[in-house]
Amino acid sequence: STRARIVILGGGAAGMSMANRLAMRLSGARITVVEPRETHHYQPGWTLVASGVWQPDRTLRLNADFMPRGIDWIRQPAVGVDADERRITLADASTLTYDILVVATGLQLNYHRIEGMSTDLIGNHGIGSVYAGPQEAARTSDAIDKWLAIGGGQGLFTNPQTAIKCAGAPIKMAFTTQSRIKITGNRDDFALDYFTPSDGMFSQPWINDFLKQRFDRDNIARHHGQYLSAIDPQARQAEFTGRDGNTETRDYDFIHVVPPMSAPDFVKASDLIAKEGAFAGEWLDTDIYTMQHNRYPEVFGIGDVIGAPINKTAASVKAQAPVVEENIAAFLEDKPLPARHNGYTSCPLITDIGTAMLVEFGYDNDMAFMPSFSFIDPKEESWAAWVLKDYMLQPAYYAMLEGRV
Ligand code: FAD
Repeated sequence: STRARIVILGGGAAGMSMANRLAMRLSGARITVVEPRETHHYQPGWTLVASGVWQPDRTLRLNADFMPRGIDWIRQPAVGVDADERRITLADASTLTYDILVVATGLQLNYHRIEGMSTDLIGNHGIGSVYAGPQEAARTSDAIDKWLAIGGGQGLFTNPQTAIKCAGAPIKMAFTTQSRIKITGNRDDFALDYFTPSDGMFSQPWINDFLKQRFDRDNIARHHGQYLSAIDPQARQAEFTGRDGNTETRDYDFIHVVPPMSAPDFVKASDLIAKEGAFAGEWLDTDIYTMQHNRYPEVFGIGDVIGAPINKTAASVKAQAPVVEENIAAFLEDKPLPARHNGYTSCPLITDIGTAMLVEFGYDNDMAFMPSFSFIDPKEESWAAWVLKDYMLQPAYYAMLEGRV
């Protein structure tokens, strides 16, 4: 039993899982969840919404359905952290102090870093983006439908110059859009071009090779070393910036925009942000194995907000949550932290409407493919993996929120 004051910032996939786990694990702890939204977003479902397969409502649930009993839910955003004083400032200027802080705010979408771009454009002017929200995902599907109705033209699929959540989503959008084009029978009248600032298509080498071959076979042109820097919705023109800083303008009929991403601004402005290295100024400074903050031992990070070479999926949250639970319990008893996260992440990569591959891997790429469903060969595009994505992942995800898996 402990009387520790535990504050969890964010009640999304990671924060809600931690709230339920810690409420079960630590009797007597005073747990506060800071989460401004009433609804929970099942974001993995948005690719299916943007592909015209699901209605947006299917990705929404009430947070109240998942919040454990006996915790304090504060329905407003945090706006500041003073890590030296162990104090959180909320939007109404009130403050909270903590013995243990769990940072689970997810990440911030920085559409504004693309000149001319904003989320209210999504669905108009041939602009789509699966990331912005359930309604925006539905409007993305509408924008694709409008493009199909023209009967041909140029489609552009972009990636930003930052880490992103669910690195497979931009790829899925290219493949499912192509599937919809094929159904019209006019594939040859549509040009699909895919842009990424990196040399490869994916961090994991086997998937990288597979995707390169698959894009080339399907005649989706790959452009490496370029990111979307500006957009002119009226003219339907996109500006890409290359490694040398030179820009190139391209016309489009449809563009799928993936925004730059970072930790939320208030985390960036706090002592908790990484000060040096690859994550400096952009992501939370946590040990990628123990999930403990590198400078403030009473602070733990989980989910999309942390600086880590891979991750940023709900699947990694599922692997991280028991690690964070174990390590917080040990920390409260002044014991060494026993648990380590192996970087597990997975991505059901939709390669067509109706087929998908379940790819799973960790920090050590040799550990590639850690299949948890033995009936699926991860290297085969299969109907089973599609069914898994479409129907089975969502209940498993909700079980994770409840702290049951
Ligand atoms: P989130 O779930 O985003 O939750 C963050 C929470 O913090 C939110 O509830 C938010 O309201 C709250 N918050 C934000 N700011 C504040 C603040 N200032 N104060 C208090 N609270 C705040 N993952 C997979 O495993 N498989 C997939 O197939 C997959 N597909 C995806 C497809 C798309 C299109 C997207 C967008 C994501 C996908 N993901 C997928 C990724 C997955 O959804 C995320 O990795 C996961 O939700 C991360 O959990 P999180 O708790 O860190 O962030």
